[in-house]
Amino acid sequence: MTQITPQPGIMDIALYVSGESRLPGRSDVLKLSSNENPLGSSDKARAAYVAAAGDLHRYPNTDHAPLRRAIGEVHGLDPDRIICGVGSDEVLQFVVQAFAGTGDEVITTEHGFSMYPILARMVGAVPVTVPEADRRIDVDAILAAVTDRTRIVFIANPANPTGTMLTPDEVQRLAGGLPSSVLLVHDGAYTEFAAGADGGAGLVDRHPNVVMTRTFSKIHGLGGLRIGWGYAARDIIDVLNRIRQPFNLSNAQMAAAEAAVRDTAFRDRCADLNARMRDRMRNSLIQMGIGCDESFANFVLARFADPAEAEAADAALRDDGILVRRVAGYGLPAALRITVGDEQGVTRVLETLGRFMADRR
Ligand code: PMP
Repeated sequence: MTQITPQPGIMDIALYVSGESRLPGRSDVLKLSSNENPLGSSDKARAAYVAAAGDLHRYPNTDHAPLRRAIGEVHGLDPDRIICGVGSDEVLQFVVQAFAGTGDEVITTEHGFSMYPILARMVGAVPVTVPEADRRIDVDAILAAVTDRTRIVFIANPANPTGTMLTPDEVQRLAGGLPSSVLLVHDGAYTEFAAGADGGAGLVDRHPNVVMTRTFSKIHGLGGLRIGWGYAARDIIDVLNRIRQPFNLSNAQMAAAEAAVRDTAFRDRCADLNARMRDRMRNSLIQMGIGCDESFANFVLARFADPAEAEAADAALRDDGILVRRVAGYGLPAALRITVGDEQGVTRVLETLGRFMADRR
């Protein structure tokens, strides 16, 4: 037995469970378990990635300047207030490492993204989980949970796995109600699927204690490439850059991301398809007698009568080669999170669930 002991809190970390991608013996698997883009990624991003392969022997630039400039131009933001990371997960990790430590409290919500408590525990902080109201983040509950040990509040807006979203007024009330010593992380991983949303950029400009995080994994379909970014006040970005590894992103990653962010036509096509297919999914699920809140993301949360029915529906989907996400670990044992697919994918899911529900009547 080793005498080497891990830091306090580390053995309390529940290992992250990612969406399944394989079903033994099946070659026609429809993977709707990780909120990936059914249109893949931009041709321009792939071409830029391949072109960058000529430079494998070169260290990447450490300041990500061309990528930050591209993000700044497309989103109308100051590139000097942007930081890029290996997925938005890494940006979230920078925030926790820089601003929370042993015994500090980090607030997350009942059905919040599972990385938040993992990251808090990674630095010895205590995740404090606040109840939601009917699968919506409850601003008052968060404000009531703040103590003098609270350092960070995490919300995803739209939220994963519920798909619900706070109104701009609610988010404003949260940011305005927090002590200025508490950092609010507004995680905008799914922003582009919520028409008109700015991901929290306006909030950052109004409040020096807000960080917005974004990702290339969802709307840009680059989950496999691992790129995300954050936007905050200059002094916060300065702190985060001090703990960022200088070569965290490769040349090929940055080249692909730059091409992807500039390919606004592909982005808009993805958002448009998602909006149409999401409506179709929700309307059909409700007609079948399956509960479904309005979603602002690229997935829907299908709510069944009880955990046994959700499990049976998952089994029926698997029988038909369809992988979705069980979300019992998120406090939603009677629900399945289903990524919105393309026309064909949605048809496949609805046929299976339609048969499943008809058989139960
Ligand atoms: N935030 C939320 C709410 C997410 O759902 C995800 C992806 N599962 C992430 C952040 C992290 O995404 P990535 O690291 O791929 O940018």
